[in-house]
Amino acid sequence: MPQSNSWAARAADLRPDGRAVIDGQRVAAVDGQTFEKRSPIDNRLLGAVARGQAADVDAAVRAARAAFDDRRWAGKAPAVRKKILQRFADKILGAKEELALLETLDMGKPIQYSLSVDVPSTARCIAWYAEAVDKIYDEIAPTPDSALALITREAMGVIGAIVPWNYPMIMAAWKLGPALAAGNSVVLKPSEKSPYTACRLAELAVEAGIPPGVFNVVPGFGHEAGEALALHMDVDAIGFTGSTRVGRRMLDYAGRSNLKRVYNELGGKSAFLVFDDFKDLERAAKTVAGSMFFNQGESCNAPSRVLVHERVAEEFTALVAAEAPSYAPGNPLDTGTVLGALVDETQMRTVLGYIDAGSAEGARCVAGGQQALAQTGGYYVEPTVFAGVSNGMKIAREEIFGPVMSILTFKTEEEAIALANNSSYGLQASVWSDGLNRAHRVARALRAGTVHVNQYDEDDITVPFGGYKQSGNGRDKSLHAFDKYTELKTTWIRL
Ligand code: NAD
Repeated sequence: MPQSNSWAARAADLRPDGRAVIDGQRVAAVDGQTFEKRSPIDNRLLGAVARGQAADVDAAVRAARAAFDDRRWAGKAPAVRKKILQRFADKILGAKEELALLETLDMGKPIQYSLSVDVPSTARCIAWYAEAVDKIYDEIAPTPDSALALITREAMGVIGAIVPWNYPMIMAAWKLGPALAAGNSVVLKPSEKSPYTACRLAELAVEAGIPPGVFNVVPGFGHEAGEALALHMDVDAIGFTGSTRVGRRMLDYAGRSNLKRVYNELGGKSAFLVFDDFKDLERAAKTVAGSMFFNQGESCNAPSRVLVHERVAEEFTALVAAEAPSYAPGNPLDTGTVLGALVDETQMRTVLGYIDAGSAEGARCVAGGQQALAQTGGYYVEPTVFAGVSNGMKIAREEIFGPVMSILTFKTEEEAIALANNSSYGLQASVWSDGLNRAHRVARALRAGTVHVNQYDEDDITVPFGGYKQSGNGRDKSLHAFDKYTELKTTWIRL
């Protein structure tokens, strides 16, 4: 694998700092516990990361509570908070190359996308919420003349943010943006598989002028730091993004502790419906491959269930199979690489297990299907396409979270809708049809938080993102995200 670019040289020199950030300071875990973090690119040791325990979480929550109670952040004029958050966004862009490199080394995504997607989206998210701070007005209810009722939004207090490893910075920003803009304090627990950029973000926040204690980061494992945060009696809400399995636990932790609000953004098995009246099959095939294999297939909204009308199924399958090899895995530090390493060996084994299950259940592998680049010591899997899949198969029902696409066929519009909705998930869907009425009709019938028509890749901070059914209950992004991190207060005034 070529390693001749400057990113590989810079990676060799990088010494990532995995200590926690509590009350504006870098700190080791209370009892000095650490865990080893290795890069999925080549299994190289990146460093020792603080292994946060309940005591570390408690220190972070206390710092966050103190910052909230003395109003060092919420009490600042909105225009001032706006400026500071804008500076935070600028700092993120200023550290673009360092953050991109950390993200790529930590979780294996291609450096070109860390640079062009992850860092800019993170900065844009923070900047967008910064802009909103001094543009949101409260309400006055239509009450009788004898009284006035003000309906105001207030910051909730201390927000626990628990995020996954697939888009570590972006997922953190989707919580931080609205939570900080609304005046809350935050304790962020990044995934143990990708802790570094979160710690750097907290340092940059302090440099930008966000007061110490307002944004804290405690790295560590889910069953230790994550559980302690979700069970903490002084955390007002948990903004969680991760698997449906752990999302269930979040609800349980809230029930066992202080009934904190829980906002779950969970898994997906998104359906991509191609009707036989859609003429440009080549564009549809290129889009589904691009969206499916982006981020190694480790995207909650990957279109992993492709439903194609039987009349065009053969042609469409051939087009997708021909497209797949252009996403061959490569060294994430090479700027031309489009598909990098899976996050760790466990994830790679899980994905290969699904590929075996697909073949064992009778699906036809028409592209990929193998581990790749094993000689690097890293964790790579070929972009894989299965045809002849039925909706009862494991590969059609379960979230694989790797570069594996399943193609199913249908005969009628009713069957297509029923198949698409026959899933415990409901995150995204896509309808491809040249019929205006059909596109609207099917889009309305699909039980998913986002439905695309004749495209899949549009996304923007201005629109809500979240799922129906077991894909979650909250909505990240857009002004709607403020609902998660604010309380509504009614104040009656006698006139
Ligand atoms: P995960 O559920 O294993 O872990 C997510 C986070 O929860 C991590 O920080 C982890 O340490 C923590 N955690 C794990 N067990 C915990 C416990 N018992 N108590 C408290 N915290 C715990 O998920 P993952 O493997 O990191 O991420 C992949 C999942 O995230 C996929 O299912 C994907 O679809 C989902 N995801 C959803 C969205 C969305 O917006 N809906 C976005 C990205 C990823």
